[in-house]
Amino acid sequence: MRKKVLPLLLALFVLTALAVHAGARALRSQTVFSFAEEKQVYLTFDDGPSTLVTGRVLDVLRDEHVRATFFIVSERVRGREDVLRRIVREGHTPGVHSACHRYGDIYENDDALRRDAAECAAVIERVTGVTPRVYRFPGGLGNARRDAVIGGEGYEIVRWNAVCGDEEIANASPARLLEETVRTSEGKRRVVLLLHDSAPHRATAEALPAIIGWFRAQGYRFCAF
Ligand SMILES: [Zn+2]
Repeated sequence: MRKKVLPLLLALFVLTALAVHAGARALRSQTVFSFAEEKQVYLTFDDGPSTLVTGRVLDVLRDEHVRATFFIVSERVRGREDVLRRIVREGHTPGVHSACHRYGDIYENDDALRRDAAECAAVIERVTGVTPRVYRFPGGLGNARRDAVIGGEGYEIVRWNAVCGDEEIANASPARLLEETVRTSEGKRRVVLLLHDSAPHRATAEALPAIIGWFRAQGYRFCAF
């Protein structure tokens, strides 16, 4: 009986030692990883506020302890001032998207572009007391000249490098939105994800917990501008 127990104990000891060694190595590499190659994701919501969808998005962000950036269409703020105030109160960043979101008007000339941004910023400031610092071009239609106009007004211009597909794919289910998020984000250390919180995008709010869960599982840190 004893003859059998001894080799067993020996094997157990060796296995434990190996496990401790591997664990320490994993811990070390994790520490190095978090300093040198931290992965970051910025969740950015365009075209709100809406009553239902923005509210649901904010609920999810609150429950998940995640901060995000909301690019506001100021014509949609009237009657939803409380939603915009909630965005700011809960620690999210409000950015300028547009006053009217009509490309023909916004991009008519430099002055029109400047005016549209200023009008949106004035509404955000009046309702929340916050002066917005970040800007996103409606339709993503920036170019060198427009960048110079908006940059000249003191804004940081925010583009995106990944999408959830809520505007690109018609009637996408929450599962499809997660799939598109993964497809367009995978392999990127810094992700700026485009989502929408305007009224038609209930599926985006529904997909959000799974989207956040995926980034979390991949080791991303959530950031807001
Ligand atoms: Zn937009």
